[in-house]
Amino acid sequence: MPLSLYDTATRAAREFIPITPGHVGIYLCGATVQAPPHVGHIRSGVSFDVLRRWLTIRGYDVTLVRNVTDIDDKIIHDAGHEDIPYWQLAMRNERAFTRAYDVLGCLPPTYEPRATGHVPEMIALMQRLIDLDHAYSVNGDVYFDVRSFEGYGSLSGQRIDDMLASPDSAAKDKRDPRDFAMWKAAKPGEPLWQTPWGPGRPGWHIECSAMAGKYLGEHFDIHGGGLDLIFPHHENEIAQSKAAGGDFANFWMHNAWVTTAGEKMSKSLGNSLLVDEVVKRIPPVELRYYLVSAHYRSMLEYSDVSVSEAGQGYRRIEGFLRRAHELLGGTPALLEVDLAARPSAFDEAMDNDLAVPQALAVLHDIVRAGNAAVAEQRIDDVREAFCATLAMLDVFGLNPWDPQWSTGQAGSTDRATEVIDALVQVLMTQRQEARVRKDFAAADAIRDGLDLIGIRIEDTAQGARWTLEK
Ligand SMILES: [Zn+2]
Repeated sequence: MPLSLYDTATRAAREFIPITPGHVGIYLCGATVQAPPHVGHIRSGVSFDVLRRWLTIRGYDVTLVRNVTDIDDKIIHDAGHEDIPYWQLAMRNERAFTRAYDVLGCLPPTYEPRATGHVPEMIALMQRLIDLDHAYSVNGDVYFDVRSFEGYGSLSGQRIDDMLASPDSAAKDKRDPRDFAMWKAAKPGEPLWQTPWGPGRPGWHIECSAMAGKYLGEHFDIHGGGLDLIFPHHENEIAQSKAAGGDFANFWMHNAWVTTAGEKMSKSLGNSLLVDEVVKRIPPVELRYYLVSAHYRSMLEYSDVSVSEAGQGYRRIEGFLRRAHELLGGTPALLEVDLAARPSAFDEAMDNDLAVPQALAVLHDIVRAGNAAVAEQRIDDVREAFCATLAMLDVFGLNPWDPQWSTGQAGSTDRATEVIDALVQVLMTQRQEARVRKDFAAADAIRDGLDLIGIRIEDTAQGARWTLEK
């Protein structure tokens, strides 16, 4: 079955055929670094990380470009309030985004260009659009003439006459109130760059056209972003890039929002939903599982209850892997896990526009069957379920043996953890021997000593097990 992806531009899923065989170029609109990210900001990074991993597993060499918008009205305004340069505020927030992508296991993009590093490319593109009479400058601003581009509004399904005036400026000298600003003339005290039309700074839309063209060429496979970017941002990117002569993106993919109380998650909810804060309450691997588990085009209603339910789902998978691992013995490497050992129903779901909920249903069926096999000590069936589960988790970047998720529990591949595990095993054996000779004071002392450094001993039917308290 071929891979099909939903294309916002045609409002249908269709077969994905790359422009260059074996290669896929993706441009993903990244963060506008006005503030540190909350859970809603990070969903697109996670969704497109799953797409990138799936394409890689399907044998494609993927180039992922995710930009950083490091200048805009709010960044300039907020930096002014703090009495610091705009770049200081932008860099602080960019670091917070990088931390959030990293803690949630998103692979770094191939390129991560910043808007302010690409002003010459923007000037060249604007000059070309002016030469072709698709753009014009007024008092140092540069506007795109939307009526000059046939097809303006097609991505968002609007007719020009039904659109409101572009909100980014109220220039009375615009040819049409819907014309949007690509470049903004400098106001007193604002950062500026010199251009043929006077000093100013980038608007938002021009940077993505310029950077997509630079890193992926005039025609590339997939352009992505959040649903809220379809209009005006992506509509304007298409107008700029196609009017300049390029074919631009073959597929337009948009992820839905994380909502709270039915609304798009907003900053007004305070700091408790910042990724930096949430990962103090919820293990990052469980937060990733939660974000991955819904279809990328479905809204995800955030609540502590829904995240903790997702966490339970992930822990059920982990629990099976741990029991299977104990029964099979050895490390995953020794077991020669075949990471291509996925059930075909799983692959079919992923090929169907990344139908993760259906793919996860296959995974949970395997886990249920695997648990039954563990209970009945059917070793071959346990091994098969163990390998299939790891192979499927790998697609989502959720393999618990990945050093990314090292929690200090049995199963980590980290050398220091192996040593700690061996030491704790020695103490647990001594404790067991003390209990056998009924020296309960000595047994309790060992347990209490471990407790003091955060190591909890749990007695199970398979013997004692330890976990590291967070
Ligand atoms: Zn963009």
